[in-house]
Amino acid sequence: MATDAHCHLSDLLKQFPYAEQERRYLGLACAVSAWNPKDFTAHEELAQHALQDKAPRIFLCFALHPQVPAVVAAQHGSAIPEFSTLLDFMETLAAADRLHGIGETGFDLYNQAFRNTEAIQEELFRVHLDLALTRQLPLVLHVRRAMHKVFAYKQALKRLPGVIFHAYSGTLGEGEALLRQGINAYFSFGTALVLGRKESIRSCAGLPLDRVLLETDAPYQPLRGRTFSSGQDIPIVLKAVSRLRHDGGPATWGESHESTLESVIDRNFYRAYGGTG
Ligand SMILES: [Zn+2]
Repeated sequence: MATDAHCHLSDLLKQFPYAEQERRYLGLACAVSAWNPKDFTAHEELAQHALQDKAPRIFLCFALHPQVPAVVAAQHGSAIPEFSTLLDFMETLAAADRLHGIGETGFDLYNQAFRNTEAIQEELFRVHLDLALTRQLPLVLHVRRAMHKVFAYKQALKRLPGVIFHAYSGTLGEGEALLRQGINAYFSFGTALVLGRKESIRSCAGLPLDRVLLETDAPYQPLRGRTFSSGQDIPIVLKAVSRLRHDGGPATWGESHESTLESVIDRNFYRAYGGTG
């Protein structure tokens, strides 16, 4: 059974109504992230149905995405509304044991609009980090052009059961440094590998295999010629990883190597999200 360490199933379903059938057909367990109650509720229902049907599991995450302040500011002008209702909702979920992870949270300093909200991103990040520490849940991170911000929190991150870097965009050296610091970090890779992004390729080839995860970030990271990403991209990403890595399987190439890689990556997934298949 394959695994997708980060996706937005509810958003994907709006574009691709057969997404859940596809996921089950592919035997894909996944971790889903929502940032509003409506999407979370939809995810939770899907997860319950999957459990009842003994279908591949869905692991549930919630957080205010670091891009939300900029998106909201663009819609409402300069006055950013209170996020406390959403944060309260998240705390209620965590207290009731309804979450497998806090995410995606983090820092997005990719462009000026996002950089304008750096202070509020930081404020929100701290709330998420505190909750993850209190509840001992893994943290799912979205980090763009902001690895320095992550390193500033390394002492706290060390005390988490896991830190999952979705669409890891740091360098190989930064990833290795996080592990050396004693952070239980996992690095998730998606279609960027297939699209030839050099830094992702270097990181995925060089980081320890027991730290590597696969993801689609569905629907948001489509391959060329597609309008959305979905579960069917996981085998394609796995192939890309298999070409990059010579460990984790027999020296002969092909399917046996890929299936060995897949089972190692699946084990990483369940370790990262604290669950079982
Ligand atoms: Zn995402």
